[in-house]
Amino acid sequence: MFKRVAIVGVGFMGGSFALALREAVKGVEILGVDINPKALEKALDLKVIDRAYERLDDLENVGLVVLASPVRTFYNIAKSLKQVLDDQTIVTDMGSVKGKLVYELENILGKKFVGGHPIAGTEKSGVENSRKDLFKGKRFILTPTPNTDQEAKRKVSELWSLLGSYVEEMDPYVHDYVFGCVSHLPHAVAFALIDALINLKKDVDLFKYPGAGFRDFTRIAASDPIMWRDIFLENKENVLTAIDVYISSLQKLVDLIREGREEELTSYLKEAREHRLRLE
Ligand code: NAD
Repeated sequence: MFKRVAIVGVGFMGGSFALALREAVKGVEILGVDINPKALEKALDLKVIDRAYERLDDLENVGLVVLASPVRTFYNIAKSLKQVLDDQTIVTDMGSVKGKLVYELENILGKKFVGGHPIAGTEKSGVENSRKDLFKGKRFILTPTPNTDQEAKRKVSELWSLLGSYVEEMDPYVHDYVFGCVSHLPHAVAFALIDALINLKKDVDLFKYPGAGFRDFTRIAASDPIMWRDIFLENKENVLTAIDVYISSLQKLVDLIREGREEELTSYLKEAREHRLRLE
């Protein structure tokens, strides 16, 4: 297993990975790289990392590098890493978007880059919210390409199993369609719902009366804006397709309500309810 691991982006996910890694792999040395000196300071104070770096150039003898910053930072980070890493170093990531990003990172870094996405998280950000049990019992999606080095893939897969995740493989483009629908769309809708309430507010401050439904539904709109800006832009096509279909569903609902089509409205709601209940 890896003796020295570098995490680029020591926030909520990078910090949670570090805590889980420390527990699972005894004696591992964890290096943290971040552009925010305060994040590094906190990570050192909380003993999440052993050493802190503000520059990638200073990394040496690292067996594994894990990218855990917002997805649109990965391109430049990969270019810098290419200058400092030797051929043996495996690079992986925790980014929420894969697709062409995986192929572009592979082009820069070579076949020892293995794309991945832990299906775990919350609306929280920052290293202070890190949790060592975040990945236990959760899915981890590996997104290899036909070029991915098999040994590197095996090692990354074994590592995530060791952290308690169920590892599953998926084509990078299929990944972006699936998570564009089940994760990126709901986040877009939650942000837009809050925006709608800002616009609906007249003389009364609507945010003073949050019902349980409103709180449940909009929890994820408290997520980090930079992280979500990057996800929406990087998975633009799938996100826009999903939003278009959602607008059609809303339009159907609008028509049923406006025209008072009672039976069809009941069926629409019933079908949605049944699908939701199957998730329990
Ligand atoms: P976060 O905001 O808590 O942490 C991101 C960290 O990256 C910050 O400390 C920031 O200073 C640092 N950073 C930004 N630009 C950098 C750069 N150029 N170089 C080095 N460090 C840089 O965000 P997070 O929730 O930990 O998300 C990190 C990654 O994990 C994202 O790619 C996101 O798509 C992915 N992800 C998040 C979740 C989630 O629920 N939060 C779930 C799955 C995957």
